[in-house]
Amino acid sequence: TRVLLTGGSGFIAAHVLETLLQRGHSVVTTVRTPQKGQHILDAHPNLSKATLDYTVVADIARSNAFDTAVISEPPFEAVVHCASPYHFKSEDNQKELLDPAVNGTVGLLQAIYKNAPTVKRVVVTSSSAAILDPTQPTKTYSEADWCPITQEQALVGPANGYRASKTFAERAAWKFVEDNKPNFSLSVCNPPLVLGPIIHHLESLSSVNTSNQRIRDLMSGAAKNACPYTGNHLFVDVRDLALGHALAVEKPEAGGKRFFMVGGKFSNKEIAEIIGEEFPDLRDNLPVGEALKSGDYPARGTYGFDSSRSKEVLGLTYRPLKDSIVDAVKSLQKISVS
Ligand code: NDP
Repeated sequence: TRVLLTGGSGFIAAHVLETLLQRGHSVVTTVRTPQKGQHILDAHPNLSKATLDYTVVADIARSNAFDTAVISEPPFEAVVHCASPYHFKSEDNQKELLDPAVNGTVGLLQAIYKNAPTVKRVVVTSSSAAILDPTQPTKTYSEADWCPITQEQALVGPANGYRASKTFAERAAWKFVEDNKPNFSLSVCNPPLVLGPIIHHLESLSSVNTSNQRIRDLMSGAAKNACPYTGNHLFVDVRDLALGHALAVEKPEAGGKRFFMVGGKFSNKEIAEIIGEEFPDLRDNLPVGEALKSGDYPARGTYGFDSSRSKEVLGLTYRPLKDSIVDAVKSLQKISVS
């Protein structure tokens, strides 16, 4: 299958790219600059441009941003939409989070609808943020659930902004399909916190993607005096999530469905303990005793999850936390010495 993948410079998309290539697909990925595209080509010196190439989409929030990116020869048969801002630094939620998430998703679907009629499947990377309701912290969640955040709440604080960006973008994608009845079917991946090895190009450890920053901070000693607060204590390994995306591209029965892809529960305290057990050299940097307590599960209780649809429809299986942490640490160690 010939696939367009958005945001190939990112943490998750780099794994999706790798998994798609391994499974015999050819991929064109969008990036913001030619330099970012070149890094991806450089990491795959043996692949021809027919198998892997990039195209520049400088800002997914702009209208018609994807109009030419969706056109290719041979034409695309599937699209995976991974690009979306994921950070908690926003000062203007509408501009920095909601617009790129919602306009990026709808703009991409419109471009496919207009200019790429050969596309049969679109897979969107949504989030557990579009499922979980933080006011019900001990409920068991599945694909049937939607985060109830409102436009008014969306503008208050970066965490609400991010949660709303994912909820509104996914809702808009389902609405687009319902309203327009396009040639393609939609499939959505809803991961919680994504952990695991970093394989995309990083300028330095300061640009580690949001979900792996806690691991970097535990390794470096930055969290020695206070283990970071865990927040959403559900995780999935990035490699399992990437395989989930590839299976959502490949399996006809994935069409019209969202998939809550959850590997299990975790706390930052458990991450610190795994690092301490597996990497004795890092023990001195880690929080212990009282300093670990802030990284424990929240006192209000923990979200339950039902990920059976992903296992039954896609056949996904999930790695344990230890594998994600050990491989993430190894990848970060490589970056710090390079
Ligand atoms: P990254 O920050 O590593 O990747 C985000 C990607 O989106 C990058 O390629 C980035 O480009 C691109 N991007 C962001 N804003 C724009 C924009 N305005 N125009 C063009 N490109 C843009 O994060 P992840 O890999 O973790 O996130 C990928 C997807 O997964 C997102 O949709 C995110 O919401 C979702 N997700 C992530 C989770 C996690 O724990 N990591 C959990 C649940 C969902 P550049 O590299 O140039 O900045």
